[in-house]
Amino acid sequence: MHQSLMLINGHDVPIDSASGKTATIYNPANREPVALVAVAGRDEARQALQAARNAFPVWSSTASSRRAEMLHQSARLVRERSDAIARLLTLEQGKPLKNAKMEVLSSADVLDYYAEEGKRNIGEWIAGPKSRSIVLRQPLGVAALITPWNFPVDLLAWKVAPCLAAGCTFVAKPPSLAPLAATEFVRAVAEAGLPAGAANVVHGPGVVVGAELVENPISRKIAFTGETETGRAIMASAAAHIKRVSLELGGQSPFIVCADADLQAAAASAAQRAFSNMGQICISVNRIYVFEDVAEPFTEELVRRAERLKIGDGMKEDTDLGPMFSLKQRDKTKEHVADAQKKGADLLTGGLEPEGEAFQKGYFFRPTVLARADHRMKVMREETFGPVAPIMKFKTLEEAISLANDTEFGLAAYVFTSDLKTALRAAEGLEAGGIGVNVNNVVDLQAPFGGWKESGLGRELGHWGLEAYLETKHIRLGL
Ligand code: NDP
Repeated sequence: MHQSLMLINGHDVPIDSASGKTATIYNPANREPVALVAVAGRDEARQALQAARNAFPVWSSTASSRRAEMLHQSARLVRERSDAIARLLTLEQGKPLKNAKMEVLSSADVLDYYAEEGKRNIGEWIAGPKSRSIVLRQPLGVAALITPWNFPVDLLAWKVAPCLAAGCTFVAKPPSLAPLAATEFVRAVAEAGLPAGAANVVHGPGVVVGAELVENPISRKIAFTGETETGRAIMASAAAHIKRVSLELGGQSPFIVCADADLQAAAASAAQRAFSNMGQICISVNRIYVFEDVAEPFTEELVRRAERLKIGDGMKEDTDLGPMFSLKQRDKTKEHVADAQKKGADLLTGGLEPEGEAFQKGYFFRPTVLARADHRMKVMREETFGPVAPIMKFKTLEEAISLANDTEFGLAAYVFTSDLKTALRAAEGLEAGGIGVNVNNVVDLQAPFGGWKESGLGRELGHWGLEAYLETKHIRLGL
């Protein structure tokens, strides 16, 4: 069985020498054990923080061009190992192997991108009458990088790459139930020639190990992706030392289909973004608002696409949808569907587990479409994090925008229309960090990603992602 070891100060920590505790990781497709994981306590978290602090002077004073070489090398190592890392990802998380491979390769692209972006951290020069001002952006120190299980490699890469490119060192804490691929990703990065201790990874419960990384004064920056409630707790505890925080939190993304939309394209996009990764995506399509006159053809096409998706073990080549990550996730999804039905929604497809022996042990669930949804239902108000597409009709664009904004979340929103004015009115009126117009994805490596309202704080990706690891310093020279 695979053993997942922690990496502290450039050394693998033997599985039995950490806190003495280990955990077993199970495959959500069949509940079979896939790996043994070393589990840290607060002591190991402190050791890792200390190692990152010790490595900071060397790494932060390394020329950005040299740091770039090492980041490119780490991207090469991740690509070389991508088959093995992707396999671990599918076994621990359930997603189809082809999607796991895409995630790992995309994480290598993030390393390459920030290798170059790090070189663009240049200063400013201001000439005054009797002085000169130089403005520097310097690495802020040790960062704690805490990530969730739905995209455990990619979401860590969004943090690791700008952190190192800025000259910071880090301790990563991957999710307890899916730490395998993320740990191998960090190992590849650490083996690219970085000083010992610049890249560390520790395992263990968020409330113990994660909490130590957040509370300990050594970490100066917390970059977190996960649930809004966890983010709220982290922000409160980071306040004790006025730490820098970036929070990428939950979403409840609306998808508006206007009268003049290309209905085939809209239905294909909605199906893909509502059901892929079993709906366990922060920018998943959670609520669909369709102009009343086109609701019928759109809905028919969405149902047709949902029923065409092949459910199965992620290791099989023809699988479109693997299992859900956990029983807890599936139970929550079922509860949300039942709540919607009780309040008057029509179940058009899905709503239960697929039948057959192949699905007996895993957390499989059929992609689900609900019609006649409204805002009394949990599916329209809370983050289901499951493959459910509830549909509600609207009469005017203003009504659709107002419904879309009727939420405390604000991560992504989508609008499908063939009219430029409608697109702009919707894009300007929707309260979210990313707006997709005739596309179902608001992630672009070069553009800012993050949430409005309770979906987060700060931005990742692009130059915004790098700035999140830098402090500004003004040096004033008297003449
Ligand atoms: P959680 O918030 O439960 O956990 C995320 C990470 O935080 C895990 O590593 C967890 O450890 C750790 N953690 C938990 N409690 C604490 C604590 N008190 N202090 C420090 N660390 C802690 O999220 P999930 O893993 O359940 O992920 C799903 C959520 O992530 C969804 O809400 C989703 O929307 C959100 N998400 C947001 C994205 C965005 O970019 N906005 C992208 C992807 C997901 P452990 O595993 O041990 O509990």
